[in-house]
Amino acid sequence: MAKIKTIGLLTSGGDAPGMNAAIRAVTRSAIFSGFKVKGIYRGYRGLITDEIVEFKTQNVSNIVQHGGTILKTARCKEFTTKEGRQQAYDVMRKHDIDALVVIGGDGSLCGAREFASEFDVPVVGVPGTIDNDLYGTDHTIGYDTALNTIMWCVDRIRDTANSHERLFFIEVMGHNAGFLALNGAIASGAEAAIIPEISTEVDQLAELIQNGFRKSKNSSIVLVAESPITGGAMGLAERVRNEYPQYDVRVTILGHLQRGGSPTAQDRILASRMGAAAVDALLEGQRNVMIGDNYDEIVYVPITKAIHKNKTIDRDLVETLRRLSI
Ligand code: ATP
Repeated sequence: MAKIKTIGLLTSGGDAPGMNAAIRAVTRSAIFSGFKVKGIYRGYRGLITDEIVEFKTQNVSNIVQHGGTILKTARCKEFTTKEGRQQAYDVMRKHDIDALVVIGGDGSLCGAREFASEFDVPVVGVPGTIDNDLYGTDHTIGYDTALNTIMWCVDRIRDTANSHERLFFIEVMGHNAGFLALNGAIASGAEAAIIPEISTEVDQLAELIQNGFRKSKNSSIVLVAESPITGGAMGLAERVRNEYPQYDVRVTILGHLQRGGSPTAQDRILASRMGAAAVDALLEGQRNVMIGDNYDEIVYVPITKAIHKNKTIDRDLVETLRRLSI
């Protein structure tokens, strides 16, 4: 295997709080270990259009506390084609980049694996997505911050829900996974979470109504994971209006609020550890792995596994939410 001298670094897909801390960690660890670092702007698009700048330690000063990504991010259709990836490879060679660190979600890691197998390039993935939907890591960078933001928002919506005695559906992100909805519901004391993992088994809305969602309470808050499987908050509210017109239902979609903001300490620490671990992985000759955290230990997960295996929801948490909402 050729010796790695220069590492290219990019962020791709949806931004997530903590990406900057990861960029800082990769850059500084790499320089500490004697590598050159090249920052690639706008994800795979910048790799194709040659938006590449050498990063020194000062390029990543004063960023650990900021949400978003200083490298910018993008979704890039061209990279899903062979010709696009060939262009990206040519630009990479022009800049003498020997290995890539990709910070992003499952789509970004899919692209990384495709690229690595086509051109025999060592690639290390760092899971940066608020969705927490990557197999092999207990947490992804940005998830904790998004969860805290959701909690903060629901606390405020509850004041209105209580005052008006309403049923509120609050839609949260998650990309077909229910981690944000389920844990957000527990953290904010919501009455229920409607998540895709359970939607295929039971009609969660019918169950919620049957269980008498009001009980002794004067309002109900239900977190809904955005997904065609759950129908989203709008879809569920429509069903309530048609099937249970006696209830006064309202919808709030938190949307991009969940992606922004200063990362929590937990996300900054996770991102710093994972960024440093990505450089360690390259030093150890690892390739095509994603950095994961497993019971607080850093682990290397084959990218193929991370993107293809389903991360399961913790059924005990589902049960806990059920018990606590009586
Ligand atoms: P998030 O979880 O926040 O949505 P993501 O990384 O999953 O982030 P995507 O939009 O799915 O975001 O993917 C980011 C980019 O990765 C795409 O725009 C595309 O350039 C690249 N990509 C995704 N899937 C593939 C694929 N199968 N082959 C090549 N490139 C891909």
